[in-house]
Amino acid sequence: MKRRQAAPSQRRQKAKRVRYLLLDVDGVMTDGILYFDESGREIKGFSIYDGHGIRLLQRAQIGVGIISGRSSAVVAWRAKELGIEDVHQGSRDKLAAYEMIRAKHHLQDETVAFIGDDLIDLPLLRRVGFSIAVASAVDAVKREVDWVTKKKGGEGAVREVIDLILSAQISKHNTRKG
Ligand SMILES: [Mg+2]
Repeated sequence: MKRRQAAPSQRRQKAKRVRYLLLDVDGVMTDGILYFDESGREIKGFSIYDGHGIRLLQRAQIGVGIISGRSSAVVAWRAKELGIEDVHQGSRDKLAAYEMIRAKHHLQDETVAFIGDDLIDLPLLRRVGFSIAVASAVDAVKREVDWVTKKKGGEGAVREVIDLILSAQISKHNTRKG
């Protein structure tokens, strides 16, 4: 069944409620291409704009977590660099990983946003309050989400989402000090 994207005003309402942003890695934080060096070590490229956005979000007291179907040392390293503590790798069942994060932070589905790009992300996208696909996501995913970003995975799509969340919540946060 096809679901229409939320209208801009609805999208803003959803963004306003977000207390926790969940990220897929391959194809969302990266361009979805797996690079390997000569010794078989994996190399990934991450957007500096996404990274800065994640820090802004954390500063606004909004949680950030990673749920990846694959497992890579590079992801653990990047997450550490960004101060992301909730990192679930090798999670083929993303709902199971989500349940752990949800319980840990006492989250309500309505206050959680998730950015995905492939079929494995669909069950979790259907569950959260604000579902987002990157421009480079597969069509089956783009059809089911509240919003499709203009930017592709690895090219600032995460930042695009964060900018929306922060601007929707600005009245709530611009009075905070520091
Ligand atoms: Mg992916």
